[in-house]
Amino acid sequence: MDVPDANDDSFGIEVILPDGVKTAPCCPHGPTLLFEKVSKGGEKGRRFYACSACRDRKDCHFFQWEDDKVSEARLLAREAENQSKRPPLTQQERVKRSEVNL
Ligand SMILES: [Zn+2]
Repeated sequence: MDVPDANDDSFGIEVILPDGVKTAPCCPHGPTLLFEKVSKGGEKGRRFYACSACRDRKDCHFFQWEDDKVSEARLLAREAENQSKRPPLTQQERVKRSEVNL
């Protein structure tokens, strides 16, 4: 977890470890991570969910405040979007999966 290179672009933002109660929303890359913006004064920042795989918003535009109320319609639309962006399984992966299921 200790990657010096990651310190630069994550300055001022902390990753909140899941408390096991809430389920994180998913982006096309999988479950998102909960982050917290930390201000210089040390005040508690606002928490938000963002992609765990992509640091660049250009690569993944998923963003959601932790206290955002997400409507059922929006959840369904997001799920549909996630499905459409998920790459189809390659032949190799299919073989691997069927081996596991045996
Ligand atoms: Zn993502």
